[in-house]
Amino acid sequence: MAYKELATKGVQGLTPYLPGKPVEELERELGITHSLKLASNENPLGPSASVQKALITALPLLHLYPDGSAHNLRHKLAQVHGLDMQQVTLGNGSNDVLELIARTFLTEQSSAVFSEYAFAVYPIVVQAVGAQAKVANAYPVDHSSMPYGHDLDAMLSCIDKNTKVVFLANPNNPTGTWIEPAVLHEFLTKVDANVVVVLDEAYFEYMPDSLKPDSINWLNLFPNLIITRTFSKIHALAGLRVGYALSNAEIADLLNRVRQPFNVNTMAQVAACAALDDETHVVQSVMINTQGLKQLMIGFDELGLNYIQSIGNFITVDMNQPAAPLYDALLHEGVIVRPVANYGLANHLRITVGSYQQNDRVLRALDSVLNGPAND
Ligand SMILES: *Cc1c(COP(=O)(O)O)cnc(C)c1O
Repeated sequence: MAYKELATKGVQGLTPYLPGKPVEELERELGITHSLKLASNENPLGPSASVQKALITALPLLHLYPDGSAHNLRHKLAQVHGLDMQQVTLGNGSNDVLELIARTFLTEQSSAVFSEYAFAVYPIVVQAVGAQAKVANAYPVDHSSMPYGHDLDAMLSCIDKNTKVVFLANPNNPTGTWIEPAVLHEFLTKVDANVVVVLDEAYFEYMPDSLKPDSINWLNLFPNLIITRTFSKIHALAGLRVGYALSNAEIADLLNRVRQPFNVNTMAQVAACAALDDETHVVQSVMINTQGLKQLMIGFDELGLNYIQSIGNFITVDMNQPAAPLYDALLHEGVIVRPVANYGLANHLRITVGSYQQNDRVLRALDSVLNGPAND
Protein backbone atom coordinates (compact mmCIF):
# COMPACT_ATOMS: atom_id res chain seq x y z
CA MET A 1 0.00 0.00 0.00
CA ALA A 2 1.39 3.36 -0.99
CA TYR A 3 0.16 5.43 1.90
CA LYS A 4 1.43 8.55 0.20
CA GLU A 5 -1.51 8.18 -2.19
CA LEU A 6 -3.87 8.37 0.78
CA ALA A 7 -2.48 11.70 1.95
CA THR A 8 -4.00 14.94 0.72
CA LYS A 9 -2.39 16.59 -2.32
CA GLY A 10 -1.05 19.31 -0.07
CA VAL A 11 0.69 16.90 2.28
CA GLN A 12 2.09 14.85 -0.63
CA GLY A 13 3.90 17.96 -1.84
CA LEU A 14 5.11 19.05 1.58
CA THR A 15 8.78 19.49 2.54
CA PRO A 16 9.13 19.63 6.33
CA TYR A 17 10.69 22.58 8.15
CA LEU A 18 14.42 22.19 8.82
CA PRO A 19 15.13 23.28 12.38
CA GLY A 20 18.54 24.36 13.64
CA LYS A 21 20.69 21.46 14.82
CA PRO A 22 20.28 20.90 18.57
CA VAL A 23 23.43 21.12 20.71
CA GLU A 24 22.82 17.63 22.13
CA GLU A 25 22.71 16.12 18.65
CA LEU A 26 26.02 17.65 17.57
CA GLU A 27 27.70 16.64 20.82
CA ARG A 28 26.38 13.07 20.47
CA GLU A 29 27.56 12.84 16.87
CA LEU A 30 31.04 14.25 17.40
CA GLY A 31 31.61 13.13 20.98
CA ILE A 32 32.35 16.71 22.03
CA THR A 33 31.12 19.06 24.76
CA HIS A 34 30.83 22.83 25.11
CA SER A 35 29.44 23.37 21.65
CA LEU A 36 27.71 26.63 20.80
CA LYS A 37 24.43 27.02 18.96
CA LEU A 38 23.80 30.28 17.15
CA ALA A 39 21.33 28.75 14.73
CA SER A 40 17.78 29.41 15.92
CA ASN A 41 17.68 33.07 16.95
CA GLU A 42 17.45 32.16 20.62
CA ASN A 43 18.08 34.87 23.22
CA PRO A 44 21.54 34.46 24.79
CA LEU A 45 20.30 36.05 28.03
CA GLY A 46 17.95 33.13 28.70
CA PRO A 47 14.58 33.49 30.43
CA SER A 48 14.39 36.18 33.09
CA ALA A 49 14.74 35.25 36.77
CA SER A 50 11.19 36.38 37.50
CA VAL A 51 9.85 34.07 34.79
CA GLN A 52 11.76 31.15 36.25
CA LYS A 53 10.36 31.93 39.69
CA ALA A 54 6.81 32.10 38.36
CA LEU A 55 7.29 28.73 36.65
CA ILE A 56 8.28 27.09 39.92
CA THR A 57 5.11 28.32 41.63
CA ALA A 58 3.04 26.79 38.79
CA LEU A 59 4.56 23.29 39.08
CA PRO A 60 2.10 21.90 41.68
CA LEU A 61 -0.81 22.65 39.33
CA LEU A 62 0.34 20.55 36.42
CA HIS A 63 -2.32 17.87 37.00
CA LEU A 64 -4.92 20.42 35.88
CA TYR A 65 -5.67 21.22 32.27
CA PRO A 66 -4.57 24.69 31.23
CA ASP A 67 -7.10 27.52 31.09
CA GLY A 68 -8.30 26.93 27.53
CA SER A 69 -9.19 30.58 27.09
CA ALA A 70 -5.89 31.68 28.71
CA HIS A 71 -7.78 34.52 30.33
CA ASN A 72 -4.91 36.02 32.32
CA LEU A 73 -2.46 36.08 29.43
CA ARG A 74 -4.95 37.38 26.89
CA HIS A 75 -6.12 40.03 29.35
CA LYS A 76 -2.55 41.11 29.96
CA LEU A 77 -1.69 41.21 26.27
CA ALA A 78 -4.81 43.25 25.56
CA GLN A 79 -3.77 45.69 28.29
CA VAL A 80 -0.18 45.94 27.09
CA HIS A 81 -1.28 46.66 23.53
CA GLY A 82 -4.32 48.80 24.33
CA LEU A 83 -6.71 46.34 22.68
CA ASP A 84 -9.73 44.28 23.57
CA MET A 85 -9.20 40.73 24.88
CA GLN A 86 -11.38 39.52 22.01
CA GLN A 87 -8.66 40.65 19.60
CA VAL A 88 -6.02 38.26 20.95
CA THR A 89 -5.50 34.71 19.63
CA LEU A 90 -2.87 32.57 21.30
CA GLY A 91 -0.75 29.92 19.66
CA ASN A 92 1.70 27.17 20.53
CA GLY A 93 4.37 29.53 19.26
CA SER A 94 3.45 32.00 16.57
CA ASN A 95 4.04 29.20 14.05
CA ASP A 96 0.84 27.68 15.39
CA VAL A 97 -0.97 30.97 14.75
CA LEU A 98 0.37 31.06 11.17
CA GLU A 99 -1.05 27.59 10.66
CA LEU A 100 -4.41 28.60 12.17
CA ILE A 101 -4.55 31.45 9.67
CA ALA A 102 -3.86 29.11 6.74
CA ARG A 103 -6.47 26.60 7.90
CA THR A 104 -9.03 29.36 8.48
CA PHE A 105 -8.71 31.17 5.16
CA LEU A 106 -7.04 28.93 2.55
CA THR A 107 -8.33 26.04 0.43
CA GLU A 108 -7.10 24.17 -2.64
CA GLN A 109 -8.90 26.81 -4.68
CA SER A 110 -7.15 29.81 -3.17
CA SER A 111 -3.67 31.27 -3.08
CA ALA A 112 -1.36 33.01 -0.63
CA VAL A 113 1.29 35.57 -1.52
CA PHE A 114 4.68 35.99 0.13
CA SER A 115 8.16 37.09 -0.87
CA GLU A 116 11.15 35.16 -2.05
CA TYR A 117 13.45 34.56 1.00
CA ALA A 118 10.44 34.95 3.35
CA PHE A 119 10.15 32.89 6.54
CA ALA A 120 10.05 29.16 5.70
CA VAL A 121 6.89 28.49 7.67
CA TYR A 122 4.71 30.41 5.17
CA PRO A 123 5.22 27.99 2.26
CA ILE A 124 4.73 25.05 4.65
CA VAL A 125 1.37 26.14 6.11
CA VAL A 126 0.14 27.11 2.63
CA GLN A 127 1.23 23.80 1.07
CA ALA A 128 -0.21 21.77 3.97
CA VAL A 129 -3.73 22.94 3.12
CA GLY A 130 -3.11 22.48 -0.61
CA ALA A 131 -3.39 26.17 -1.47
CA GLN A 132 -1.26 27.80 -4.15
CA ALA A 133 1.82 29.76 -3.09
CA LYS A 134 2.54 32.85 -5.17
CA VAL A 135 6.10 33.93 -4.49
CA ALA A 136 7.02 37.52 -5.33
CA ASN A 137 10.59 38.24 -6.34
CA ALA A 138 12.57 39.94 -3.60
CA TYR A 139 14.67 43.01 -4.30
CA PRO A 140 17.76 42.00 -6.27
CA VAL A 141 21.23 41.63 -4.77
CA ASP A 142 22.29 44.98 -6.23
CA HIS A 143 19.22 46.91 -5.03
CA SER A 144 20.17 50.39 -3.84
CA SER A 145 18.59 50.32 -0.36
CA MET A 146 17.39 46.84 0.61
CA PRO A 147 19.02 43.91 -1.22
CA TYR A 148 17.09 40.65 -0.61
CA GLY A 149 14.23 42.67 0.95
CA HIS A 150 10.50 42.24 0.37
CA ASP A 151 9.43 44.10 -2.81
CA LEU A 152 5.92 45.19 -1.86
CA ASP A 153 5.05 46.25 -5.41
CA ALA A 154 5.99 42.79 -6.67
CA MET A 155 3.86 41.31 -3.88
CA LEU A 156 0.90 43.53 -4.82
CA SER A 157 1.07 42.38 -8.42
CA CYS A 158 0.96 38.72 -7.29
CA ILE A 159 -2.41 39.27 -5.61
CA ASP A 160 -5.28 38.06 -7.79
CA LYS A 161 -8.95 37.18 -7.32
CA ASN A 162 -8.06 33.84 -5.67
CA THR A 163 -5.65 35.35 -3.15
CA LYS A 164 -6.94 35.16 0.40
CA VAL A 165 -3.80 35.75 2.47
CA VAL A 166 -0.57 37.73 2.19
CA PHE A 167 2.28 36.92 4.56
CA LEU A 168 5.06 39.37 5.25
CA ALA A 169 7.69 39.46 7.94
CA ASN A 170 9.09 42.73 9.25
CA PRO A 171 11.96 42.31 9.84
CA ASN A 172 12.15 39.17 7.78
CA ASN A 173 13.91 35.97 8.75
CA PRO A 174 16.41 34.83 7.39
CA THR A 175 17.36 38.09 5.66
CA GLY A 176 16.95 40.54 8.57
CA THR A 177 15.61 43.07 6.04
CA TRP A 178 12.83 45.49 6.91
CA ILE A 179 10.13 47.72 5.45
CA GLU A 180 9.92 51.45 6.18
CA PRO A 181 6.76 52.22 8.22
CA ALA A 182 5.35 54.62 5.61
CA VAL A 183 5.92 52.10 2.82
CA LEU A 184 4.19 49.39 4.81
CA HIS A 185 1.26 51.69 5.52
CA GLU A 186 0.89 52.52 1.85
CA PHE A 187 0.96 48.82 0.99
CA LEU A 188 -1.90 48.16 3.41
CA THR A 189 -4.00 50.90 1.80
CA LYS A 190 -3.51 49.18 -1.58
CA VAL A 191 -4.48 45.63 -0.56
CA ASP A 192 -8.14 44.79 -1.00
CA ALA A 193 -10.00 44.43 2.31
CA ASN A 194 -11.02 40.89 1.26
CA VAL A 195 -7.40 39.78 1.45
CA VAL A 196 -5.99 39.04 4.90
CA VAL A 197 -2.56 40.58 5.48
CA VAL A 198 -0.41 38.79 8.06
CA LEU A 199 2.28 41.07 9.43
CA ASP A 200 4.75 38.80 11.23
CA GLU A 201 6.51 40.86 13.90
CA ALA A 202 8.48 38.12 15.64
CA TYR A 203 11.45 40.49 16.03
CA PHE A 204 9.48 43.69 16.65
CA GLU A 205 11.14 44.50 19.98
CA TYR A 206 14.61 44.39 18.42
CA MET A 207 13.77 47.05 15.85
CA PRO A 208 15.18 50.57 16.27
CA ASP A 209 12.33 52.84 17.41
CA SER A 210 12.49 54.89 14.22
CA LEU A 211 11.70 51.80 12.15
CA LYS A 212 8.92 50.40 14.36
CA PRO A 213 5.61 50.75 12.54
CA ASP A 214 2.52 51.87 14.44
CA SER A 215 1.08 48.48 13.49
CA ILE A 216 -1.19 47.93 16.48
CA ASN A 217 -3.02 51.19 15.84
CA TRP A 218 -3.33 50.19 12.21
CA LEU A 219 -5.71 47.40 13.29
CA ASN A 220 -8.39 50.12 13.48
CA LEU A 221 -7.66 51.26 9.93
CA PHE A 222 -7.24 47.88 8.27
CA PRO A 223 -9.76 45.26 9.43
CA ASN A 224 -7.98 42.68 7.24
CA LEU A 225 -4.70 43.04 9.19
CA ILE A 226 -3.38 40.28 11.48
CA ILE A 227 -0.24 40.99 13.50
CA THR A 228 1.70 38.04 14.90
CA ARG A 229 4.18 38.26 17.77
CA THR A 230 6.05 35.70 19.84
CA PHE A 231 7.56 35.04 23.26
CA SER A 232 10.28 32.92 21.63
CA LYS A 233 12.71 35.68 20.74
CA ILE A 234 13.06 38.77 22.95
CA HIS A 235 11.34 37.05 25.90
CA ALA A 236 13.63 34.01 25.56
CA LEU A 237 10.87 31.42 25.89
CA ALA A 238 11.33 29.46 22.64
CA GLY A 239 11.22 26.15 24.54
CA LEU A 240 7.77 26.83 25.99
CA ARG A 241 6.08 27.63 22.66
CA VAL A 242 3.86 30.68 22.98
CA GLY A 243 2.98 33.30 20.41
CA TYR A 244 -0.09 35.29 19.49
CA ALA A 245 -2.07 37.13 16.88
CA LEU A 246 -3.66 40.56 17.24
CA SER A 247 -6.50 41.30 14.86
CA ASN A 248 -10.04 42.58 14.77
CA ALA A 249 -12.39 40.56 17.00
CA GLU A 250 -14.20 38.95 14.08
CA ILE A 251 -11.01 37.45 12.64
CA ALA A 252 -9.89 36.40 16.13
CA ASP A 253 -13.20 34.58 16.59
CA LEU A 254 -12.59 32.63 13.37
CA LEU A 255 -9.03 31.71 14.35
CA ASN A 256 -10.23 30.60 17.77
CA ARG A 257 -12.73 28.21 16.18
CA VAL A 258 -9.85 26.34 14.57
CA ARG A 259 -7.53 26.57 17.58
CA GLN A 260 -7.14 23.53 19.85
CA PRO A 261 -8.48 24.59 23.25
CA PHE A 262 -5.30 23.69 25.13
CA ASN A 263 -2.75 24.74 22.52
CA VAL A 264 -0.90 26.92 25.04
CA ASN A 265 0.11 24.95 28.11
CA THR A 266 -0.05 26.11 31.72
CA MET A 267 3.67 26.76 32.08
CA ALA A 268 3.71 28.77 28.88
CA GLN A 269 0.78 30.91 30.04
CA VAL A 270 2.36 31.57 33.43
CA ALA A 271 5.78 32.33 31.95
CA ALA A 272 4.41 34.65 29.28
CA CYS A 273 2.48 36.67 31.89
CA ALA A 274 5.61 37.04 34.01
CA ALA A 275 7.69 37.94 30.96
CA LEU A 276 5.36 40.83 30.14
CA ASP A 277 6.05 42.26 33.60
CA ASP A 278 9.82 42.20 33.18
CA GLU A 279 10.66 45.29 31.16
CA THR A 280 14.29 45.20 32.33
CA HIS A 281 14.87 41.84 30.69
CA VAL A 282 13.58 43.23 27.38
CA VAL A 283 15.77 46.33 27.60
CA GLN A 284 18.83 44.22 28.44
CA SER A 285 18.10 41.81 25.60
CA VAL A 286 17.88 44.68 23.13
CA MET A 287 21.15 46.14 24.42
CA ILE A 288 23.04 42.85 24.15
CA ASN A 289 21.67 42.42 20.64
CA THR A 290 22.57 45.91 19.45
CA GLN A 291 26.13 45.51 20.71
CA GLY A 292 26.37 41.96 19.37
CA LEU A 293 25.16 42.92 15.90
CA LYS A 294 27.85 45.62 15.76
CA GLN A 295 30.49 43.18 16.98
CA LEU A 296 29.55 40.63 14.32
CA MET A 297 29.47 43.24 11.53
CA ILE A 298 32.93 44.50 12.49
CA GLY A 299 34.15 40.90 12.61
CA PHE A 300 32.70 40.09 9.18
CA ASP A 301 34.27 43.25 7.76
CA GLU A 302 37.64 42.12 9.11
CA LEU A 303 37.13 38.71 7.50
CA GLY A 304 36.20 40.39 4.21
CA LEU A 305 32.68 38.94 4.28
CA ASN A 306 29.58 40.74 3.03
CA TYR A 307 26.34 40.43 4.98
CA ILE A 308 22.71 41.39 4.55
CA GLN A 309 21.75 44.47 6.62
CA SER A 310 19.77 43.17 9.61
CA ILE A 311 17.69 44.61 12.44
CA GLY A 312 16.82 41.22 13.91
CA ASN A 313 18.75 39.14 16.44
CA PHE A 314 20.58 37.36 13.61
CA ILE A 315 22.57 38.26 10.54
CA THR A 316 23.01 36.44 7.27
CA VAL A 317 26.52 36.38 5.84
CA ASP A 318 27.61 35.81 2.28
CA MET A 319 30.43 33.26 2.36
CA ASN A 320 31.20 33.95 -1.31
CA GLN A 321 31.35 30.19 -1.94
CA PRO A 322 29.03 27.24 -1.29
CA ALA A 323 28.26 27.50 2.41
CA ALA A 324 27.49 23.81 3.10
CA PRO A 325 31.14 22.69 3.55
CA LEU A 326 31.81 25.71 5.76
CA TYR A 327 28.75 24.86 7.86
CA ASP A 328 30.19 21.35 8.34
CA ALA A 329 33.62 22.73 9.16
CA LEU A 330 32.06 25.04 11.77
CA LEU A 331 30.28 22.04 13.32
CA HIS A 332 33.70 20.45 13.81
CA GLU A 333 34.73 23.62 15.63
CA GLY A 334 31.73 22.99 17.88
CA VAL A 335 29.75 25.91 16.45
CA ILE A 336 26.26 25.46 15.00
CA VAL A 337 25.01 28.14 12.61
CA ARG A 338 22.16 27.96 10.12
CA PRO A 339 22.52 27.01 6.46
CA VAL A 340 19.91 28.84 4.36
CA ALA A 341 20.22 26.96 1.04
CA ASN A 342 16.56 25.92 1.46
CA TYR A 343 15.75 29.64 1.05
CA GLY A 344 17.72 29.82 -2.20
CA LEU A 345 20.73 31.32 -0.39
CA ALA A 346 23.28 28.54 -0.92
CA ASN A 347 26.31 30.80 -0.31
CA HIS A 348 24.96 32.30 2.91
CA LEU A 349 24.92 31.30 6.56
CA ARG A 350 22.57 32.81 9.13
CA ILE A 351 24.17 33.52 12.49
CA THR A 352 22.23 34.37 15.63
CA VAL A 353 23.56 37.26 17.70
CA GLY A 354 24.92 35.80 20.93
CA SER A 355 26.69 37.17 23.99
CA TYR A 356 30.04 38.96 23.52
CA GLN A 357 31.96 35.71 24.14
CA GLN A 358 29.72 33.69 21.86
CA ASN A 359 30.06 36.19 19.02
CA ASP A 360 33.80 36.19 19.53
CA ARG A 361 33.86 32.39 19.32
CA VAL A 362 31.86 32.22 16.10
CA LEU A 363 34.08 34.89 14.50
CA ARG A 364 37.22 32.94 15.48
CA ALA A 365 35.69 29.73 14.17
CA LEU A 366 34.86 31.44 10.88
CA ASP A 367 38.40 32.76 10.64
CA SER A 368 39.71 29.28 11.28
CA VAL A 369 37.56 27.52 8.66
CA LEU A 370 38.24 30.23 6.06
CA ASN A 371 41.91 30.95 6.70
CA GLY A 372 43.22 27.92 8.57
CA PRO A 373 43.73 27.52 12.32
CA ALA A 374 45.28 30.47 14.14
CA ASN A 375 48.86 29.82 15.28
CA ASP A 376 48.90 31.74 18.50
C1 LIG B 1 11.19 32.82 15.07
C2 LIG B 1 10.13 33.32 14.18
C3 LIG B 1 8.79 33.19 14.54
C4 LIG B 1 8.41 32.67 15.89
O1 LIG B 1 8.19 31.35 15.93
P1 LIG B 1 7.57 30.73 17.25
O2 LIG B 1 6.70 29.66 16.71
O3 LIG B 1 6.78 31.80 17.93
O4 LIG B 1 8.71 30.24 18.06
C5 LIG B 1 7.82 33.69 13.71
N1 LIG B 1 8.15 34.31 12.56
C6 LIG B 1 9.42 34.48 12.19
C7 LIG B 1 9.73 35.24 10.96
C8 LIG B 1 10.44 33.97 12.99
O5 LIG B 1 11.70 34.10 12.61
